Amino acid sequence: MLIESKLPDVGTTIFTIMSKMAADHQAINLSQGYPGFNAPQGLLDLVTKHMNLGNNQYAPMSGIPLLRERIREKVRLETGFSYDAESEITVVSGATEAIYSAITTVIQPDDEVIVLEPAYDLYVPVIKLCGGIPVFVSLNMPDFSVDWEKVNAAVTEKTRLIMVNTPHNPGGYVWTQDDLNQLGALVESRNLLVISDEVYEHITFDGRAHLSLMTHPVLREKTFVCCSFGKTFHVTGWKVGYCLAPKELTAEFRKVHQFVTFSTPTPFQFALAEYIQDPKAYQTLSDFYQKKRDLFCQGLKSTQFEFTPAQGSFFQLVSYGHLSQEPDLELAKRMTIDYGVACIPISVFFHDKKDHHILRFCFAKSDEDLTKALNKIQSLVF
Ligand code: PMP
Ligand code: GLN
Repeated sequence: MLIESKLPDVGTTIFTIMSKMAADHQAINLSQGYPGFNAPQGLLDLVTKHMNLGNNQYAPMSGIPLLRERIREKVRLETGFSYDAESEITVVSGATEAIYSAITTVIQPDDEVIVLEPAYDLYVPVIKLCGGIPVFVSLNMPDFSVDWEKVNAAVTEKTRLIMVNTPHNPGGYVWTQDDLNQLGALVESRNLLVISDEVYEHITFDGRAHLSLMTHPVLREKTFVCCSFGKTFHVTGWKVGYCLAPKELTAEFRKVHQFVTFSTPTPFQFALAEYIQDPKAYQTLSDFYQKKRDLFCQGLKSTQFEFTPAQGSFFQLVSYGHLSQEPDLELAKRMTIDYGVACIPISVFFHDKKDHHILRFCFAKSDEDLTKALNKIQSLVF
């Protein structure tokens, strides 16, 4: 070996593995989370328009001013709170980059970071690349709510950061006002920052509201709120997102961001700046996905799986521990190869790969594909 691995325990992400397996076996891909349908035509036309107008060179490092201003307006409309477009809003290349840059901005070697598990697979490797130490706290089963006693007990003198994800991937849990208050009380008197991954901010069900951490006065001062247009406008491949943080945090964040990507593709920024002016474009998303969640859950009732309908995100979990002890990775592979439906085993979202016998299905697919997939899932034999 010519180099010593910085991430010796990390392999290729499960999303790449399962999507490849789905393609190899022509399975319906309910594994990696991306919409199985195109973005709105109006948005696509705007990108072409701006490419033809010549908006094809580097965008300003922090994002084009018009998009930052429109993000400011969108956030104010949704939460009543106004970030400064010049010094507190940064356009980034997807929430992945926002989270990478935010962790890198904050973490010094030996700093501890609270990670609530199961956790999206990006967080821990980035914490480790920075020399940080992840401290794991498990979420409550089966609803993936937060056990605040456990979180409080995990905080030490060395804790510098806590990772939050609401609505939660893979659990679907949506934070409540009490969760915000508990975290607010925890960070208030401590030198402790928060990264809040809110990429599913516009996908909540059954009348639940998404409560951004920015709506809490204490948290707002200490949080990098990371969002993505990918989930909201069905354009996960564009990798455009934004990071909201108070001025001093944003100044440090931009020092890192400028050397990670420098800037984010220009025509997409112009197109999104025009498109997000109409709030309907994102305010209708929860209804759109609730129909899909309901269709999927209705079909699941005719299977042997146990499940609780997701509160948010576009993922539905199912458990099968009452039927079999087959490892979840084995079952996910078997379903892909033998039944033609790919899904994600959620043991990958735990640092010790603990197997709770739970699978994750993405329901951001056409109704036709969901119906076909359900027929296949209904024939599963344990
Ligand atoms: N956080 C979570 C919880 C996600 O599910 C994803 C994947 N879509 C991301 C971050 C990354 O978002 P983006 O594609 O905008 O980089
Ligand atoms: N966020 C998506 C998921 O959870 C995957 C994104 C990716 O493949 N990096 O499935």
